[in-house]
Amino acid sequence: MILKNIRYLVTQNADRQILENVDVKISEDKISAIGHDLSTEDEEVFDCSDKVVMPGLINAHTHVSMTLLRGISDDLELDDWLNDVIFPAEEKLDAEDAYVGAKLGCLEMLKSGTTTFNDMYDHMDQVAEAVEETGMRAVLSRGVLDVDGNGDERMAEAVDFAIDYSEHDRITPGFAPHAVYTASSDVLSELKEFAEDLDSVYHIHVSETRSEVEDFVTENNVTPLQHLDNLDLVDDNLIAAHCVWMMDEEKYILEENGGTVVHNPAANLKLGSGIADIPDFLDRGINVALGTDGVASNNNLNLFEEAKLTGLLHKRESPTEITAQQILDMITVNGAEALGLKDEIGSISVGKKADLITIDLGSEEMSPVHGEDGLVSNLVFAFDGKVEDVFVDGEVVVKGSEHVSLDESGVVEMAEKVSRKFS
Ligand SMILES: [Zn+2]
Repeated sequence: MILKNIRYLVTQNADRQILENVDVKISEDKISAIGHDLSTEDEEVFDCSDKVVMPGLINAHTHVSMTLLRGISDDLELDDWLNDVIFPAEEKLDAEDAYVGAKLGCLEMLKSGTTTFNDMYDHMDQVAEAVEETGMRAVLSRGVLDVDGNGDERMAEAVDFAIDYSEHDRITPGFAPHAVYTASSDVLSELKEFAEDLDSVYHIHVSETRSEVEDFVTENNVTPLQHLDNLDLVDDNLIAAHCVWMMDEEKYILEENGGTVVHNPAANLKLGSGIADIPDFLDRGINVALGTDGVASNNNLNLFEEAKLTGLLHKRESPTEITAQQILDMITVNGAEALGLKDEIGSISVGKKADLITIDLGSEEMSPVHGEDGLVSNLVFAFDGKVEDVFVDGEVVVKGSEHVSLDESGVVEMAEKVSRKFS
C-alpha cells in the first residue's frame, strides 16, 4: 500500500521533521519506505496530495467501558459524584455493558485520530474483544484494589488476563493498582513483581485530588509518590495518572527514577480537582503524556480537544509556558514512551508500525498553513479531530471518516439500549 504525494508528513521523528510531497509505503504491518516517487506497481494507492499524515494518537489514561456513562451526572462534588452516581452505576455495569461501552469508545477514539489507548478497569476480556473488533491497539490492565477486602479475585483476574494476552499483536497487557489509598502495600508490590516479569507498564492514579493526598499523608506520614518509592516501584515503567497535587520532593523522585506523568486536563477541571503543573514537569525532563480519563468525567475521548485544552490551561498566565510542539509530543512520542512502545509507534520512520492518521487540508479550520510551525499550531489549536483515514498495524480501519467494517449506527443503538438501566 502506498500513501502517495503526502502534502505534509508530520513524522514526529527525533528531528521532528515535516516532509512535503512525499510517499509512504506500507508493507504488512510496517512502514517499509519513505521517499519521493515510490513505485506504485501492484500497490493499493491512497492519494494524499491534500492531506496531512501523522502518527496515530496515544491516549495514555482512560477507562473506555465508562463511555457508557457519558453525561450521567455533571454537577456534583467529587465525593457525591463517586458515591451517589458512579459507584452505584458500576455495580450494575456487567461484562456485556463493558463490551458495548468499550466498542462505542474505541469507535469514537479511532474516528478522532487515536490509534492506541492505555486502560485500567474491570471486565478486561470484554474490552479486549472490543479492541480486536474495532482494530485498535491498546495496553490493557485489570485494575486492582483491595480496600474492600476483595483483592484476591481481582489480582487473579489481572494475572490471568496478562498471561492470556502476552503474545497478542495489538494488545499489550499491563498491571494497574487503582491508587495508593485503595491498594495495600502488598497489592502494590505484588503487581510490580508481575509487571517486572513481563516488563510491562505499572499504571496507577496518583495525587488526583487535594483531599486524597491530605488524608493519605495524615494517615501514613508519607506522600503518595514517596510511598511508591519506598516500595521501590518508581521506574521507567510507572505511568502516574493525574499528579495534580504533587510536591517538589515527589517530582524529584520522578526526575531521578523515570516514569511518566499523564495529564488529564478535562477530567481534572470538570471534577474540580485542580491543574497539574505540567510546565514544571516538562522543565524537569519528566515524560508527560496526555489522557482523556473516563468519559463520565470528560465527556468525550477526543485527544485533539485535550491537546488544545492543555495549551490554553498552561498559557493562562504566560503564552511562553508551553509550546504546540510540546503538546503534539505528548499525544504521540511521549505516549509511546510511556507505554514502552516507542520503538514501534508514536512516530513515523521506516521499520515502525504503520499506525497512521490522515487529515484533510481542505477543511476550513486547517487552512491556511503558515509554514511548519503554523501546521503544528493548526493541529493543536484549530483542528476539531475529525480525521479522514486511520491505519493501525498497516490495516485501514477508518476510511473517509467511517469505520470500514463496523456498523456504526448499530454500535450507537446498542449503547443506547444497554445504558437505559443506568438512568
Ligand atoms: Zn482514571
